[in-house]
Amino acid sequence: MSNYDYDLFIIGAGSGGVRAARMAAAQGVRVAVAEYSRPGGTCVNLGCVPKKLFSYAADYHAFIAQAERFGWNLAVDSFSWDILHDNTSAVLERNSNFIGNMVEQAGAEIIHGHARLSGPHSVTVGDKAYSAERILLAPGGTPQYPDIPGNEYLKSSNDMFSLPCLPRQMLIVGGGYIACEFASILNALGVKVIQIYRKELFLRGFDRDVREFVAEEMRRLGVDLRFNCDLTAVSHTAEGYQASLNDGTSITTDLILAATGRRPNIAGLGLEEHGIELTASGAVKVDNYFQTSIPSVYALGDVIDRVQLTPVALAEAMTLVRNLYQGTTDSMDYRLIPSAVFSHPNIAAVGLSEEDAIRQFAQVDVYLSKFTPLKHALSRSGDKYLMKLVVDHQTDRVVGAHMVGEHAGETIQGLAIALKAGATKKIFDQTIGIHPTSAEEFVTMRSVTRRHGVKAD
Ligand code: NDP
Repeated sequence: MSNYDYDLFIIGAGSGGVRAARMAAAQGVRVAVAEYSRPGGTCVNLGCVPKKLFSYAADYHAFIAQAERFGWNLAVDSFSWDILHDNTSAVLERNSNFIGNMVEQAGAEIIHGHARLSGPHSVTVGDKAYSAERILLAPGGTPQYPDIPGNEYLKSSNDMFSLPCLPRQMLIVGGGYIACEFASILNALGVKVIQIYRKELFLRGFDRDVREFVAEEMRRLGVDLRFNCDLTAVSHTAEGYQASLNDGTSITTDLILAATGRRPNIAGLGLEEHGIELTASGAVKVDNYFQTSIPSVYALGDVIDRVQLTPVALAEAMTLVRNLYQGTTDSMDYRLIPSAVFSHPNIAAVGLSEEDAIRQFAQVDVYLSKFTPLKHALSRSGDKYLMKLVVDHQTDRVVGAHMVGEHAGETIQGLAIALKAGATKKIFDQTIGIHPTSAEEFVTMRSVTRRHGVKAD
């Protein structure tokens, strides 16, 4: 046992901080976690969890519209924002309390307040100073706004869960996860949504077929999606917020959401002052073992800006705690991380896009299927799904799997295991489908859609 107040002092009780605290404390490590807000961090309080609950609320729009074709007569014509908001808040409060209790039951102490690094082995929270053998920075991220006149009028995703009422119309700026999710959710809840993205096609980093397909589907479902369109200034008028755009036009709307990325949440932490090196993008610089430029200080999660996903922060925390207290010397494996965008339609992917695979492998086979799933043959909603496999021709290994459609994340989670295990296309072909499902398409795509780098016989 060290002579410090704690063996491990964690700044931030978000996903990564909580996992590290619980795991270390369970092994007898003396742990404190400082948090100025509610335990659980962005994911539980202002991100994944409330967003997914809102996404479920949005799903009902389509279920109700389609129910009649299945024989149901549902005379429903209203939606209550207050009910969704209040019930979601209750779930969040319960979850956050539960997380706080779990941390304490594991034996860690939660210290409420804004923590600040005050030395290689010391932290202050308010006017109290604490010493620790090791310090872990897990303060997460925070929304970033475009640097334009009037950006003080912009809302971020943090604000979306506590809006006093649903806007009648809104503008969403951005083409990433948060922009697409909120555009879809609010559109389904009845808001007239315009989503603008500054370049030619949104969802940068995803497979091009997926991006084009999702754009078509979101437009079909009612989102006014505008590409090569950017916000240049915002002003507040008697009619609402006036958004000036790069083509010289302007839009007057009730609310403008900037979903333009998140940056490391390091303001007020005293990091640079105490010699913690940052990257060019302002993230805390760490080595393969999450050690910062001060050997007793570690960092993980969104603040290191590698992959801003909760399950990644959890895996980083577990890797670190095992290394520090169980004698392992593992670095984190960032390959084949699956992810989902809970837009409508849902998107999920693991591995490489077709474009990235072509850059990485000499010969690439692509299997692509767009189809109307059985449910929508009857609903006549017009919904279509996309499924796609990207295969390294030489080894036959499936290096990318992509899906757009209902529950895409549920399907791709299973495929991520197959890709992690190195499954070949032959193994996919030998796998028996579950009938009738949409997912069976992944094991029945027999004809190659296109080949890159392979000479025709
Ligand atoms: P993303 O990085 O996904 O998207 C940011 C978007 O904003 C991009 O389209 C980007 O354009 C655009 N943008 C950035 N700066 C500006 C600017 N100054 N003016 C106009 N447009 C701009 O960030 P999000 O905010 O959507 O989400 C943050 C992260 O949180 C995600 O990367 C993801 O890791 C995580 N997340 C995960 C979710 C999930 O798992 N379902 C849900 C929500 C968030 P460009 O493409 O040109 O850079």
